[in-house]
Amino acid sequence: MLKRVLTGGAIAIGAALMLQAPVAAQRGGRPPVFPTKEQFAASAEAQKHVAAARKIAGTDLVKEFENTCSSTGPQRVALARQDAGLPPLKDYTVEPTKIFDNVWFMGLASQGAFVITTSQGLILIDTLNTTEEARDILVPGIKKVGLDPAQIKYIVLTHGHPGQTDHTGGASYLQSTYHPRVMMSKEDWDATLPAQKPERPLAKRDMDIVHGQTLTLGDETLTFTVLFGHTPGTLGIFIPVKWHGQPHVVVLHGGGLQHPNHDSLNRFESVIKDYALEMNAEGILNAHPGIYQDTLADMETIRKNPNGPNPLLYGRDRAARYWKVMDECATARVVALEEAGGRTR
Ligand SMILES: [Zn+2]
Repeated sequence: MLKRVLTGGAIAIGAALMLQAPVAAQRGGRPPVFPTKEQFAASAEAQKHVAAARKIAGTDLVKEFENTCSSTGPQRVALARQDAGLPPLKDYTVEPTKIFDNVWFMGLASQGAFVITTSQGLILIDTLNTTEEARDILVPGIKKVGLDPAQIKYIVLTHGHPGQTDHTGGASYLQSTYHPRVMMSKEDWDATLPAQKPERPLAKRDMDIVHGQTLTLGDETLTFTVLFGHTPGTLGIFIPVKWHGQPHVVVLHGGGLQHPNHDSLNRFESVIKDYALEMNAEGILNAHPGIYQDTLADMETIRKNPNGPNPLLYGRDRAARYWKVMDECATARVVALEEAGGRTR
């Protein structure tokens, strides 16, 4: 079993934020993509949005509200623990989990990938940290559940950080071994390729993704949105899934809810309105388990009781309120940052 310590998150996120306009640094030199706790609490206007979110959350989205409506919003477990002064967790390989009829989670407790099965092959979303992890965790996982890695037709990378490879690290190996097409947002190809390190080669640039683009393979069509903020081109991917034969749509948000300025917030709001609500998206995924909810526990629930209800699916009405909670909380952060003098336009 491969063990790593959950410390990569802070480094990866720090690297991402270097791309933002350098205003007054905070939290170990990171530019203010988020307001400070104090700025967030002190802004009456921000707290109006927090109160609105709390109301929308009702009694069945309390945890989600608490996770979302802070000065930083949802964070990777490693970063949240670091901020709380807790020791890092030991990482471990997660048992491949069939989270939907047509989607598998594979990877580590800190870092995952998703395999989507279609009538004409596989789509792989994200590739773990390195060649070794792709070769020794991802490929064996795919084989273990009876799938063939040679059937990977597309690799979709949710985003890339210059100099960091937590989502992109396995792509070069998989590209040269199985020859799938490799897709990432145009912005993140542009940002990451010049910063690649020889010991961590990126995949060769193949297909650029732009906002609103779709990808069809066999009976599956993914819809890509570009939610800049976490990186210049982080994807929100709308994925039609099935659970016990019933169709649903979920969204895979590549990053956290870093929408630090009005352009980014406007894009996020338009994606909620024109995609999430329009398509009745019912759940949110992330390649880092635990950002949006306790995904590791949810996957354990699914493995123990594959015939039961799927805890990753919120249902249409509850999910619709969840998106609105996210929107109010993201708005609160922008308002607080703006009041504190952060550059938000
Ligand atoms: Zn990231």
